Amino acid sequence: MKNAKYFLERAKKVIPGGVNSPVRAFGSVGGTPRFIKRAKGAYLYDEDENCYLDFVGSWGPMILGHSHDEVIRRVQDACQRGLSFGAATAAEVEMAELVCELVPSIELVRMVNSGTEAVMSAIRVARGFTGRDKIIKFSGCYHGHSDGLLVQAGSGVMTAGVPDSLGVPVGCTKDTLSARYNDLDSVKAHFSRCPEEIAAVIVEPVAANMGVVLPEEGFLEGLRKLCDAYGALLIFDEVITGFRLAIDGAQGYYGVTPDLTTFGKIIGGGMPVGAYGGKRQIMEMVAPLGSVYQAGTLSGNPVAMAAGMAQLTILKEHPQYYRELNEKGDRFFGNIERLLRETGHPWKVNHVGSLGCLYFTKQDVKDYESAKNSDTELFAKFHNHMLEQGIYLAPSQFEAVFLSLAHTEEMLGKVLEAITIFLQKI
Ligand SMILES: *Cc1c(COP(=O)(O)O)cnc(C)c1O
Repeated sequence: MKNAKYFLERAKKVIPGGVNSPVRAFGSVGGTPRFIKRAKGAYLYDEDENCYLDFVGSWGPMILGHSHDEVIRRVQDACQRGLSFGAATAAEVEMAELVCELVPSIELVRMVNSGTEAVMSAIRVARGFTGRDKIIKFSGCYHGHSDGLLVQAGSGVMTAGVPDSLGVPVGCTKDTLSARYNDLDSVKAHFSRCPEEIAAVIVEPVAANMGVVLPEEGFLEGLRKLCDAYGALLIFDEVITGFRLAIDGAQGYYGVTPDLTTFGKIIGGGMPVGAYGGKRQIMEMVAPLGSVYQAGTLSGNPVAMAAGMAQLTILKEHPQYYRELNEKGDRFFGNIERLLRETGHPWKVNHVGSLGCLYFTKQDVKDYESAKNSDTELFAKFHNHMLEQGIYLAPSQFEAVFLSLAHTEEMLGKVLEAITIFLQKI
């Protein structure tokens, strides 16, 4: 902890709150954020040379585990050829072809540098295409930090206890309508009130920024039908679920096809990459083909493309990886549920495949309201306990636990033991 404290002191003098993204601060769990020096497989090593079994995985990208040899090698090769050209490259073509091949709903795709940018751009395209201004989002879903989407935006904002952000003009959110996750009636109500003004419904097909909330049966299908009935576009924000639940993301996993999809996290293999894409007719709106402007100096960066391509190619070549990962998730989260049941604790576990969340609440969690019932003080104790046991969880009740292919049954067994000890202590 000596070095963590030392770096935090230095960081606080020159970086707001000492961190470059608020979710990295330990505000809601107390204690000192760890300063990570290196990572390999399922493990993180901090500046004090402590080793942690990691369940954040850079918030999702590290589905193969950290510092995968092949990914690192491809990145090193790309670096040798130059870091950025600001011109077209073969790597971008290969990446776009791969995404279109893996995700059938995508016919044209544009690379950007983050999930925030991907969502911001997809919404601009939806508005340009439909000639409408309003969008519907769900409370508790996070779609990046652009102005119009910082309305009841889940984890980072929830944890900070700030309902919305200062600095967002009212004008920027006046076209953002909030609906309740898993509640089609709340969506219908918006459509009935303004049937010809809604450009798009944007949704996390599995909500993974208020813990993990699964879509109830019929919810995603219902959104598809409502969008079709009212001429609005359906946007799946697959920044977390893309290339995680299945190679074709949540849309493949649940069998519901959106008009536009946004990616981030896994698509960059640990480098800053986002992407948005969809039906040809819609994506033809994007400049220089069409009149929806969107650009990026470093978009499709060759080093970033190399990392993303390397990871996606490995995933494509090993279709069994998804079965393994999802079965691992079923066993792991199922074991936690069993442990809670056997020890008489009332808490809830939500999970799908390799994404899961232990909520310290007695009620089922199916939307933002029910997620907010969780006992965050108890979560803080849990987080501290796990960290002491060498297990690194996201420092918030409202984040997902991310499993990777690098987690072994033995490692997951240790986590179960650590949870058992916690349950005995409280
Ligand atoms: C992380 C996330 C974003 C934002 O991506 P950044 O790369 O952090 O800008 C958008 N949507 C979802 C669902 C996310 O989880």
